[in-house]
Amino acid sequence: MPDMENALYVVATPIGNLGDIGLRALEVLRGVDLVACEDTRHARHLLDHHGITVPTLALHQHNENEAAGKLIRLLGEGRRIALVSDAGTPGVSDPGARTVAAVRAAGFRVIPLPGPNAAITAMSAAGLADQRFLFVGFLPAKVGARKTAILDLASVDAALVFYEAPHRIMETVVDLVELLEPRREIVIARELTKMFEQIERMPLAAATAWLVADVNHQRGEFVLVVSGPPPREGLDAETERVLIALLAELPVRQAAKLAAEITGQPKNALYARALELKGAAV
Ligand code: SAM
Repeated sequence: MPDMENALYVVATPIGNLGDIGLRALEVLRGVDLVACEDTRHARHLLDHHGITVPTLALHQHNENEAAGKLIRLLGEGRRIALVSDAGTPGVSDPGARTVAAVRAAGFRVIPLPGPNAAITAMSAAGLADQRFLFVGFLPAKVGARKTAILDLASVDAALVFYEAPHRIMETVVDLVELLEPRREIVIARELTKMFEQIERMPLAAATAWLVADVNHQRGEFVLVVSGPPPREGLDAETERVLIALLAELPVRQAAKLAAEITGQPKNALYARALELKGAAV
């Protein structure tokens, strides 16, 4: 690329199939002086595949501040640098954001090169009718925090997009099934763009059985897309009265939990209504 600027080029790379890389990304990776990458061996595999010999520098979550300082010094010397992550788009559930902020703050241009992203790839094949989606990424690893996060998302009027790793896919799906409205659907997208790619759509309640039906169903990398909540039918007057009384004394989660015990109504519906009531009171 003859007229490449002295800048940081943020380059999205394949999420599996090494052929999924744009012409401009390849030109930039060939033309820069250095490729900053999460894992040098991983990046080398991609670069070698495309016959690119540019040197690499490790930039991962444990050295990002220090490595960003080095990049800024090199940019100051007039170098052109590419930033890539192990897969997909840097800065999306991957390192990159702190580097980009530091480079921009130092007065250098940051040039994004769009390309693969697992969430968007899954959305493109999910076929859900929702007008909106919320990218959540990874849920917390600890059970309590994960359940709280899911309950907080239960009333969001949008499809929800999660990332998950094979060792946690089962527990995450079990929690989604337990805490989200059972009429919602889930699309389980595993190993996108790879040899054993699978994209399966099913009622949320059927997801656990699907995972246990075949050990291979729990292997690989996952994107989970859950359709938005169905239109909520209003709570009956008595349930609403109980919830309002409890909300006057208790935090939202406790009020919803207790109201569910007292009235027998679903906890997530009460939680969603409690959030609305709290919002209205602010
Ligand atoms: N930056 C990446 C992106 O733009 O999508 C995401 C990196 S994040 C560390 C890795 C997670 O992305 C995996 O655990 C998985 O949830 C999802 N992922 C990445 N590649 C995938 C693939 N080929 N199929 C399904 N999910 C994938």
